[in-house]
Amino acid sequence: MKLYNLKDDSEQVSFAQAVVQGIGRGQGLFFPHAIEPLENIEELLRLPLVPRSQRILRHLIGDEIPQLESLIEDAFNFPCPLVKAAENVYALELFHGPTLAFKDFGARFMARVLGAVKGERHVTVLTATSGDTGAAVAAAFKDQPNIDVVVLYPQGKISPLQAKLINTLGGNIHAVEIAGIFDQCQDLVKQAFDDTAFRNQVGLNSANSINISRLLAQVSYYFEAVAQLPEHSRDRVIFSVPCGNFGNITAGLIAKTLGLKARFVIACNVNDTVPRYLKSGSWEPHQTVATLSNAMDISRPNNWPRVEALCRMNKWPWSDFACNSMTDEETARTMVQLYKQSGYVLEPHAAIAYQSLSNVLKEGETGIFLGTAHPAKFKQDVDRILGIDLPLPDALAQAVKKDSEVVRLEVNYAALTDYILKTVGQ
Ligand SMILES: *Cc1c(COP(=O)(O)O)cnc(C)c1O
Repeated sequence: MKLYNLKDDSEQVSFAQAVVQGIGRGQGLFFPHAIEPLENIEELLRLPLVPRSQRILRHLIGDEIPQLESLIEDAFNFPCPLVKAAENVYALELFHGPTLAFKDFGARFMARVLGAVKGERHVTVLTATSGDTGAAVAAAFKDQPNIDVVVLYPQGKISPLQAKLINTLGGNIHAVEIAGIFDQCQDLVKQAFDDTAFRNQVGLNSANSINISRLLAQVSYYFEAVAQLPEHSRDRVIFSVPCGNFGNITAGLIAKTLGLKARFVIACNVNDTVPRYLKSGSWEPHQTVATLSNAMDISRPNNWPRVEALCRMNKWPWSDFACNSMTDEETARTMVQLYKQSGYVLEPHAAIAYQSLSNVLKEGETGIFLGTAHPAKFKQDVDRILGIDLPLPDALAQAVKKDSEVVRLEVNYAALTDYILKTVGQ
């Protein structure tokens, strides 16, 4: 796979380079030169998830990474069932992996690919998280040889459950609580990446959602969703994707470029830079607002240039997309309404995807919304809104019982680099 930097097409990299580097010069995203459509999609749809994903990812990536097939088998070791939630509407439940979020797909694949392409080098993954990403990355890299992971999160600002998923792993996973807010954690990470000497010294990698390997892994489950539909409902499929950084929908649009027949709904909370842009044509991010669907509290979605590039590549007009944004009140109302109607429990992100889909679903279409996190990850809100007491799934119940190992640091760059130099590679 050959990729180029969307901000500077003189920078050309292989897939392996793009995975190691993460981002290109001038913060440009890597994007494939070409995406050849798949042949025999119907035959592919008859295969199980792992062999189908092996064929799709091999087609995309080409002959780099000889052991790709076994990495995929190792990474995709949990199911993603399609569950009926209402008439002609299904949830694609992407939350049955180790940290109960769809990010497990991308993070587990990336961890294995990075392990395969980094050679003898020691790599330090440094990431700041406000929740799901850090947990998925930490779990995915646990015990990967010659890789250390340092996860920064703001002390007291992520749920105790989320923190446990990060700070109970131990070994090569190092949890650091920063006495500050998420933006300060992110600034510390940025500063480390701008510090060339330090970056080279510890072999920094960010493992964040702009890494191309994470997106490619996610292409697999769009095919899996359609494969689980009865054949007669595969023709007019519409996916609704709850969007934050727009990585998930980028993967869906790559699947569409490969030949998967589907339309897409862009579902946002009130951080609605994209819905406003598609209406008015002007890009005007507002101040980010905190909502119930906090993984989507993003007003400058960093994968957006890739969505635009895919639309250019395929000559898709914006009118192909349905687009919606919802307030917390509407989100909660949707959760209550579907729970009363069918008993299906939505967490806030899925609720936005479900309602945005229902708004536009037409007679004869099959709707699929992406369930990006297990409702128990948002237990407080879900319990309060629905008046229930959700049981904790095993992965969370286990983590809660384990002891935390965590270091507390002030918002201080020198303290962080000291800590990392002292800790990694041991
Ligand atoms: C990360 C996340 C999203 C947003 O996904 P993007 O790929 O950033 O658009 C949506 N829902 C949940 C639960 C998430 O963790």
